[in-house]
Amino acid sequence: MLHIRNLTVAYPGGAPVLHAVTLDLRSPGVHALVGANGAGKTTLLHTLAGHLSPATGTVVVDDREVTGWHPTAAARAGVALVPQGRQLWPSLTVAEHFAATRPARDRDERWTVEELLGLFPPLAARMGHRAYQLSGGEQQMLTIARALRTAPRLLLADEPTEGLAPIVANQIITVLRDLPARGVSVLAALPHAGVAAMIADTMHVLASGQLLGYTRTAATVSDVQRQHLTLTHP
Ligand code: ATP
Repeated sequence: MLHIRNLTVAYPGGAPVLHAVTLDLRSPGVHALVGANGAGKTTLLHTLAGHLSPATGTVVVDDREVTGWHPTAAARAGVALVPQGRQLWPSLTVAEHFAATRPARDRDERWTVEELLGLFPPLAARMGHRAYQLSGGEQQMLTIARALRTAPRLLLADEPTEGLAPIVANQIITVLRDLPARGVSVLAALPHAGVAAMIADTMHVLASGQLLGYTRTAATVSDVQRQHLTLTHP
Protein backbone atom coordinates (compact mmCIF):
# COMPACT_ATOMS: atom_id res chain seq x y z
CA MET A 1 0.00 0.00 0.00
CA LEU A 2 2.63 2.56 1.11
CA HIS A 3 6.33 1.80 0.98
CA ILE A 4 8.90 4.41 1.96
CA ARG A 5 12.58 3.61 1.46
CA ASN A 6 15.56 5.56 2.84
CA LEU A 7 13.79 8.89 2.69
CA THR A 8 15.99 11.87 3.52
CA VAL A 9 14.37 15.31 3.46
CA ALA A 10 15.79 18.78 4.09
CA TYR A 11 14.22 22.23 3.89
CA PRO A 12 15.89 24.60 1.40
CA GLY A 13 19.29 25.63 2.68
CA GLY A 14 19.00 23.48 5.80
CA ALA A 15 20.32 20.22 7.16
CA PRO A 16 18.15 17.08 6.74
CA VAL A 17 15.27 16.77 9.18
CA LEU A 18 14.36 13.23 8.08
CA HIS A 19 17.18 10.69 7.96
CA ALA A 20 16.83 7.57 5.79
CA VAL A 21 13.28 6.85 6.91
CA THR A 22 11.97 3.44 5.84
CA LEU A 23 8.35 2.60 6.59
CA ASP A 24 5.83 0.11 5.19
CA LEU A 25 2.07 0.15 5.54
CA ARG A 26 1.16 -3.27 4.20
CA SER A 27 -2.50 -3.54 5.18
CA PRO A 28 -5.44 -1.20 4.99
CA GLY A 29 -6.24 0.37 8.35
CA VAL A 30 -5.46 3.25 10.65
CA HIS A 31 -1.74 3.74 11.20
CA ALA A 32 -0.15 6.16 13.65
CA LEU A 33 3.02 8.15 13.25
CA VAL A 34 4.04 9.09 16.76
CA GLY A 35 6.70 11.56 17.84
CA ALA A 36 7.36 14.63 19.94
CA ASN A 37 7.27 18.19 18.60
CA GLY A 38 9.95 18.61 15.98
CA ALA A 39 10.40 14.88 15.38
CA GLY A 40 9.58 15.31 11.70
CA LYS A 41 5.99 14.03 11.45
CA THR A 42 4.72 17.01 9.46
CA THR A 43 7.76 16.91 7.21
CA LEU A 44 7.12 13.25 6.41
CA LEU A 45 3.42 13.77 5.67
CA HIS A 46 4.16 16.81 3.49
CA THR A 47 6.72 14.81 1.54
CA LEU A 48 4.21 12.01 0.94
CA ALA A 49 1.64 14.56 -0.24
CA GLY A 50 4.10 16.07 -2.71
CA HIS A 51 4.66 19.39 -0.93
CA LEU A 52 8.34 18.63 -0.33
CA SER A 53 10.83 16.76 -2.51
CA PRO A 54 13.15 14.29 -0.82
CA ALA A 55 16.91 14.55 -1.22
CA THR A 56 17.12 10.76 -1.44
CA GLY A 57 14.82 7.78 -1.18
CA THR A 58 11.61 6.55 -2.74
CA VAL A 59 7.88 6.60 -2.02
CA VAL A 60 5.64 3.95 -3.54
CA VAL A 61 1.83 4.10 -3.26
CA ASP A 62 -0.18 1.12 -4.50
CA ASP A 63 2.76 -0.16 -6.57
CA ARG A 64 3.31 3.23 -8.23
CA GLU A 65 6.44 5.24 -7.46
CA VAL A 66 5.37 8.80 -6.60
CA THR A 67 8.66 10.16 -5.24
CA GLY A 68 8.84 13.93 -5.60
CA TRP A 69 5.54 14.16 -7.46
CA HIS A 70 3.66 17.43 -7.56
CA PRO A 71 0.76 17.58 -5.03
CA THR A 72 -1.81 17.33 -7.81
CA ALA A 73 -0.20 14.16 -9.12
CA ALA A 74 0.06 12.72 -5.63
CA ALA A 75 -3.66 13.42 -5.20
CA ARG A 76 -4.37 11.60 -8.47
CA ALA A 77 -2.38 8.67 -7.11
CA GLY A 78 -4.81 8.59 -4.18
CA VAL A 79 -3.05 10.57 -1.44
CA ALA A 80 -4.80 13.40 0.45
CA LEU A 81 -3.47 15.56 3.27
CA VAL A 82 -5.38 16.90 6.26
CA PRO A 83 -2.93 19.61 7.28
CA GLN A 84 -2.15 20.65 10.82
CA GLY A 85 -3.87 23.96 11.56
CA ARG A 86 -6.64 23.18 9.04
CA GLN A 87 -5.71 25.78 6.38
CA LEU A 88 -9.26 26.45 5.24
CA TRP A 89 -10.26 29.48 3.16
CA PRO A 90 -11.57 31.70 6.00
CA SER A 91 -14.01 33.79 3.95
CA LEU A 92 -15.48 30.90 1.93
CA THR A 93 -18.59 29.11 3.14
CA VAL A 94 -18.77 25.39 3.81
CA ALA A 95 -20.73 24.95 0.56
CA GLU A 96 -18.08 26.92 -1.33
CA HIS A 97 -15.33 24.71 0.09
CA PHE A 98 -17.15 21.68 -1.29
CA ALA A 99 -17.79 23.39 -4.63
CA ALA A 100 -14.10 24.29 -4.93
CA THR A 101 -12.89 20.73 -4.32
CA ARG A 102 -13.25 18.02 -6.93
CA PRO A 103 -12.34 14.33 -6.99
CA ALA A 104 -8.69 14.06 -8.03
CA ARG A 105 -9.58 11.56 -10.76
CA ASP A 106 -12.39 12.31 -13.20
CA ARG A 107 -15.62 10.43 -12.50
CA ASP A 108 -14.38 9.18 -9.12
CA GLU A 109 -17.42 10.27 -7.13
CA ARG A 110 -16.87 8.00 -4.13
CA TRP A 111 -17.50 10.91 -1.75
CA THR A 112 -20.45 13.04 -2.70
CA VAL A 113 -21.30 16.11 -0.62
CA GLU A 114 -24.31 14.19 0.75
CA GLU A 115 -22.08 11.35 1.93
CA LEU A 116 -19.66 13.79 3.53
CA LEU A 117 -22.49 15.52 5.37
CA GLY A 118 -23.64 12.10 6.56
CA LEU A 119 -20.16 11.55 7.95
CA PHE A 120 -20.12 14.96 9.64
CA PRO A 121 -23.76 15.88 10.42
CA PRO A 122 -22.91 19.20 12.16
CA LEU A 123 -21.71 20.58 8.81
CA ALA A 124 -25.15 20.15 7.22
CA ALA A 125 -26.54 23.03 9.26
CA ARG A 126 -23.51 25.20 8.51
CA MET A 127 -23.39 25.10 4.71
CA GLY A 128 -23.93 28.85 4.40
CA HIS A 129 -21.45 29.79 7.12
CA ARG A 130 -17.96 31.03 6.38
CA ALA A 131 -15.04 28.92 7.63
CA TYR A 132 -13.97 31.53 10.17
CA GLN A 133 -17.45 31.36 11.75
CA LEU A 134 -17.17 27.62 12.48
CA SER A 135 -16.10 26.09 15.78
CA GLY A 136 -12.70 24.38 15.89
CA GLY A 137 -14.36 20.99 15.66
CA GLU A 138 -16.46 21.99 12.66
CA GLN A 139 -13.38 23.40 10.97
CA GLN A 140 -11.57 20.11 11.46
CA MET A 141 -14.58 18.21 10.11
CA LEU A 142 -14.57 20.43 7.03
CA THR A 143 -10.83 19.94 6.59
CA ILE A 144 -11.24 16.15 6.64
CA ALA A 145 -14.34 16.30 4.43
CA ARG A 146 -12.50 18.45 1.90
CA ALA A 147 -9.64 15.93 1.78
CA LEU A 148 -12.06 13.00 1.38
CA ARG A 149 -13.81 14.85 -1.47
CA THR A 150 -10.68 14.23 -3.56
CA ALA A 151 -11.44 10.48 -3.22
CA PRO A 152 -8.16 9.31 -1.65
CA ARG A 153 -7.03 5.77 -0.88
CA LEU A 154 -4.63 7.08 1.76
CA LEU A 155 -5.53 9.97 4.05
CA LEU A 156 -2.62 11.69 5.80
CA ALA A 157 -3.93 13.38 8.95
CA ASP A 158 -1.59 15.74 10.79
CA GLU A 159 -2.55 15.86 14.48
CA PRO A 160 -6.26 15.63 13.63
CA THR A 161 -7.52 16.14 17.19
CA GLU A 162 -5.15 18.95 18.17
CA GLY A 163 -6.85 21.69 20.19
CA LEU A 164 -10.28 20.01 20.18
CA ALA A 165 -12.52 19.37 23.16
CA PRO A 166 -12.42 15.67 24.13
CA ILE A 167 -15.96 14.96 22.96
CA VAL A 168 -15.24 16.46 19.53
CA ALA A 169 -11.88 14.70 19.38
CA ASN A 170 -13.77 11.45 19.91
CA GLN A 171 -16.14 12.22 17.02
CA ILE A 172 -13.16 12.79 14.75
CA ILE A 173 -11.43 9.61 15.93
CA THR A 174 -14.59 7.58 15.36
CA VAL A 175 -14.78 8.82 11.76
CA LEU A 176 -11.10 8.07 11.13
CA ARG A 177 -11.48 4.56 12.59
CA ASP A 178 -14.37 3.85 10.22
CA LEU A 179 -12.62 5.04 7.06
CA PRO A 180 -10.71 1.81 6.23
CA ALA A 181 -14.05 0.00 5.96
CA ARG A 182 -14.91 2.54 3.25
CA GLY A 183 -11.70 2.00 1.31
CA VAL A 184 -9.57 4.77 2.82
CA SER A 185 -6.51 3.99 4.93
CA VAL A 186 -5.26 6.58 7.38
CA LEU A 187 -1.75 7.60 8.43
CA ALA A 188 -2.21 9.96 11.39
CA ALA A 189 0.55 11.98 13.03
CA LEU A 190 -0.14 11.94 16.74
CA PRO A 191 1.86 13.29 19.66
CA HIS A 192 0.72 10.69 22.23
CA ALA A 193 1.58 7.00 22.01
CA GLY A 194 -1.23 6.14 24.43
CA VAL A 195 -3.95 7.43 22.14
CA ALA A 196 -2.22 6.03 19.07
CA ALA A 197 -2.13 2.58 20.65
CA MET A 198 -5.87 2.67 21.12
CA ILE A 199 -7.01 4.03 17.77
CA ALA A 200 -4.44 2.67 15.34
CA ASP A 201 -3.65 -0.78 14.00
CA THR A 202 0.08 -0.08 13.80
CA MET A 203 2.22 2.58 15.43
CA HIS A 204 5.44 3.96 13.93
CA VAL A 205 7.70 5.98 16.21
CA LEU A 206 9.71 8.90 14.88
CA ALA A 207 12.40 10.70 16.91
CA SER A 208 14.74 13.41 15.64
CA GLY A 209 13.93 12.54 12.06
CA GLN A 210 14.64 8.83 12.45
CA LEU A 211 12.17 5.99 12.55
CA LEU A 212 12.75 4.01 15.72
CA GLY A 213 10.47 1.12 14.82
CA TYR A 214 6.90 0.04 14.72
CA THR A 215 4.51 -2.07 16.68
CA ARG A 216 1.13 -3.61 16.14
CA THR A 217 -1.32 -2.16 18.60
CA ALA A 218 -4.26 -3.38 20.63
CA ALA A 219 -6.82 -1.89 18.28
CA THR A 220 -9.20 -4.64 19.35
CA VAL A 221 -10.00 -2.91 22.65
CA SER A 222 -13.65 -2.26 23.26
CA ASP A 223 -15.24 1.02 22.26
CA VAL A 224 -15.82 1.79 25.93
CA GLN A 225 -12.13 1.44 26.75
CA ARG A 226 -11.18 3.42 23.67
CA GLN A 227 -13.57 6.21 24.56
CA HIS A 228 -12.22 6.36 28.10
CA LEU A 229 -8.66 6.58 26.87
CA THR A 230 -9.31 9.20 24.26
CA LEU A 231 -11.44 11.20 26.66
CA THR A 232 -8.72 11.28 29.26
CA HIS A 233 -5.90 11.86 26.74
CA PRO A 234 -7.33 13.93 23.88
P1 ATP B 1 5.22 19.45 15.41
O1 ATP B 1 4.32 18.56 16.16
O2 ATP B 1 5.82 20.53 16.26
O3 ATP B 1 4.64 19.97 14.12
P2 ATP B 1 6.70 17.53 13.84
O4 ATP B 1 7.06 16.20 14.40
O5 ATP B 1 5.56 17.58 12.92
O6 ATP B 1 6.48 18.55 15.03
P3 ATP B 1 8.20 18.96 11.83
O7 ATP B 1 7.22 20.09 11.83
O8 ATP B 1 8.23 18.06 10.67
O9 ATP B 1 8.01 18.08 13.16
O10 ATP B 1 9.65 19.57 12.08
C1 ATP B 1 10.83 18.79 11.99
C2 ATP B 1 12.02 19.73 11.98
O11 ATP B 1 12.00 20.50 10.80
C3 ATP B 1 12.04 20.72 13.16
O12 ATP B 1 13.38 20.86 13.61
C4 ATP B 1 11.56 22.00 12.53
O13 ATP B 1 12.14 23.12 13.17
C5 ATP B 1 12.07 21.88 11.10
N1 ATP B 1 11.19 22.60 10.16
C6 ATP B 1 9.87 22.45 10.03
N2 ATP B 1 9.38 23.24 9.05
C7 ATP B 1 10.45 23.91 8.55
C8 ATP B 1 10.62 24.88 7.51
N3 ATP B 1 9.58 25.32 6.78
N4 ATP B 1 11.86 25.34 7.26
C9 ATP B 1 12.92 24.89 7.96
N5 ATP B 1 12.84 23.96 8.97
C10 ATP B 1 11.62 23.49 9.26
